[in-house]
Amino acid sequence: MNEPTPILRFAPSPNGALHLGHAYSALVNQHMAQALGGHWLLRFEDIDTARCTLRFEADMIEDLRWLGLEWQGEPRRQSQHLDTYREALDSLKSMGLVYPAFLSRSEIKAIVSHQPDWPRDPDGQPHYPGDERSWSDKRISAALEEERRHAWRLNMQAALERVDGPLTWRETGYDGEADTAIIEADPSRWGDVILARSDTPTSYHLSVVIDDAIQGITHVVRGEDLYEATAIHRLLQQLLDLPEPLYHHHRLIRDEQGRKLSKSSHDTSLQALRASGYGAAHIRAKLDLGPYQKSL
Ligand code: GLU
Repeated sequence: MNEPTPILRFAPSPNGALHLGHAYSALVNQHMAQALGGHWLLRFEDIDTARCTLRFEADMIEDLRWLGLEWQGEPRRQSQHLDTYREALDSLKSMGLVYPAFLSRSEIKAIVSHQPDWPRDPDGQPHYPGDERSWSDKRISAALEEERRHAWRLNMQAALERVDGPLTWRETGYDGEADTAIIEADPSRWGDVILARSDTPTSYHLSVVIDDAIQGITHVVRGEDLYEATAIHRLLQQLLDLPEPLYHHHRLIRDEQGRKLSKSSHDTSLQALRASGYGAAHIRAKLDLGPYQKSL
């Protein structure tokens, strides 16, 4: 049987300017795609329509081209595929795995503030303290009819009961195959994650697994800040019967204080670096692609 062509992707959210951390991720994707004899795609994760703009998108394309990067085909824009995500959400609803959660962020905060031992997810956010997961259908319909704002949450316990056997993912080394480790995925640490909101039929977790499947991604190459989230992605892939890609989480580029770069730290934006006279070759050298470079 022929192996499928490796397909990787770089998937920024166009809600600010690309910085050195994004440049590193895009370059790692490009190097790994070349080493594997595959290609990489560009995807704009723009479901947050209040913060994502076409202007940021255009700037990102310019920055990536300036770095000498070329991807295959037209970029995919998540905001153009909301119906696809809605269908996936509907199928999770029909399995009885999703419920509307009506507590606002500040209500959640107030409830857990008196409970120092309240469980928290790997990002430090409290598990959902509401009890809507056990409401009757009648009570849920009545609350929805009142048009109260809500988020659609995955009933984690019910979801895990549907999974056969242990959940794992395959974390690969930098050449995409060597040193593949089987990692045990424990999505229960995340509690009842949000899969959609009343005004957006999806979330990062839901749309990323759908898109990776639709775009035929064989290798998900991204920063290690998303390592723990892979457990949720593997669970959703099982529930929605989606293929399992390989994963590779690369190191993060940090500032001098050791903090993860953010889109608001303007001094490391590629635009600012370019404006101060740095060239693309300097950026590539500064980022030190180390083993990725050697894998070519
Ligand atoms: N859109 C995410 C970000 O900008 C990346 C998601 C992913 O690579 O899975 O951090």
